[in-house]
Amino acid sequence: MPTAATTSTSDSATTAPERFDVLIAGGGPAGSTAAITLARAGLRVCVLEKDHHPRFHIGESILPRNTPLLRELNLEAHVRALPHMSKYGAEFGFANDPATRRFTFNDGLLPGFPVFNIERAHLDKLLLDQARVAGATVHEGNPVRSIDHLAEGDVRVTAADGRSYAAKLLIDASGHGTIVGRHLGTRKAFDEPELQKVAYFQHFEGVRHLAGIEHGHPGIFMSDEGWFWLIAVSPTKTSVGFVTRPSFVRQLDVPPTKLLQWAIARAPVVRERMANATGPADNQVLADFSYKCRPCAGPGYMLVGDAGAFLDPIFSTGVTLAMMASHHAAGLTIRQLAGQLSPAAARADYTSFVERSTSPFWSLIRTYYKHEFRELFMEGSGPMSVHKAVISLLAGQVFPKPVWTLRWRHTLFNAFVRLQKHVPLVRRRARFSLLTETPAPLSLTGTSGDRQAVIVSAPTLVGVS
Ligand SMILES: Cc1cc2nc3c(=O)[nH]c(=O)nc-3n(C[C@H](O)[C@H](O)[C@H](O)COP(=O)(O)OP(=O)(O)OC[C@H]3O[C@@H](n4cnc5c(N)ncnc54)[C@H](O)[C@@H]3O)c2cc1C
Repeated sequence: MPTAATTSTSDSATTAPERFDVLIAGGGPAGSTAAITLARAGLRVCVLEKDHHPRFHIGESILPRNTPLLRELNLEAHVRALPHMSKYGAEFGFANDPATRRFTFNDGLLPGFPVFNIERAHLDKLLLDQARVAGATVHEGNPVRSIDHLAEGDVRVTAADGRSYAAKLLIDASGHGTIVGRHLGTRKAFDEPELQKVAYFQHFEGVRHLAGIEHGHPGIFMSDEGWFWLIAVSPTKTSVGFVTRPSFVRQLDVPPTKLLQWAIARAPVVRERMANATGPADNQVLADFSYKCRPCAGPGYMLVGDAGAFLDPIFSTGVTLAMMASHHAAGLTIRQLAGQLSPAAARADYTSFVERSTSPFWSLIRTYYKHEFRELFMEGSGPMSVHKAVISLLAGQVFPKPVWTLRWRHTLFNAFVRLQKHVPLVRRRARFSLLTETPAPLSLTGTSGDRQAVIVSAPTLVGVS
């Protein structure tokens, strides 16, 4: 395993590297947010991105707390000019029971912000383009191939174009690529088998949604084996997915690209919403996406967004956590490179920011997989407004850490979940297993083309809110 400061050889070692203040690996929401913030502050920034945007990416439901950040970056109007679906709350339920629980973010203890669901191809392209506008050098289709030197104030990488790039700091925003975590050997899967996950998903047209302002409510429908999401990403297009355990699918004799249909066929609520849906017969698959790279900052580097850790997408936290942490990391970097903050102090601040803002979600995610959590959550109200506090947490009110009024209620809510296991505080609800349901295969009336057609369709600039 290479140490932080060791060098690995590369062909480009002989050519003079192109120099910047900050190198950013990855041009997703985390990388672009850092690039926009740093370049606007006058730093020389280079983003090396593996793909060409627009490119498909899963993760379309954004948390309300993202809106103030977009406002701060002066980007809210730009994003709202893209096709999107306004989102005011969410819907939770069991996948066999049409009586679902809906809430709006305004029901939370803290005021909510208007937010949206959006196709990531559009959002991510806009953010990366804005990094260019801010003055960053952006290379698409040019991934980092090797980290050649990683030390305080002195980093060097080689990209796919064979050239060497040097800077004072490397921000790893490579998402699941986790280039620094892999280089340092710090990428670890979570020990808990319950947190190992695989996701099957696709975009469809013609999915039925709730009416009115609830149209944009992401629908989360639960079963013992896993959960479904239905997220309207535009007035007509819906992202549909099923998240489960690899150990469960290993028992089935179903091709991975047919797993979504297999599961929908056994989930009455989802099946009913998709009765008139059109879309590809095959789904996409993402496996092995729960891991943590620690430390999240070290000599010469910071890990932002999914490059640092990814636990579970149940509460749609990914983009907001990625952008918030990356914006904070960029602010610290500006002060560090201006000599106002030592590298050690910047790292300590960043680590604390990441730990404090993510820990409430990690707690909620771990609790979500307990049936008692679902029973309490489906009840929709609780003493001392604990349910309102949970809604505010789910809106992303956790930065730089949740306020006290949320924290103690969250602790109390966790105590209720533990108690509910032994004493019914709210009414018991039957578990639902997909394996008990007689399958009724979904008939996808025609297909709306292959995945690429969905992905690269040019964004038409129409506001739909
Ligand atoms: C099944 C599932 C559902 C999800 N649903 C939601 C949701 O509803 N809402 C939500 O907010 N989040 C959701 N997420 C999470 C969300 O997708 C991520 O958290 C988010 O994309 C993180 O942004 P990022 O910029 O850190 O990483 P990414 O968006 O993954 O961007 C990383 C970029 O790095 C590039 N890259 C990779 N390797 C290299 C390399 N070697 N060199 C250069 N570039 C490289 C990639 O091409 C990519 O563009 C979901 C995730 C999963 C798995």
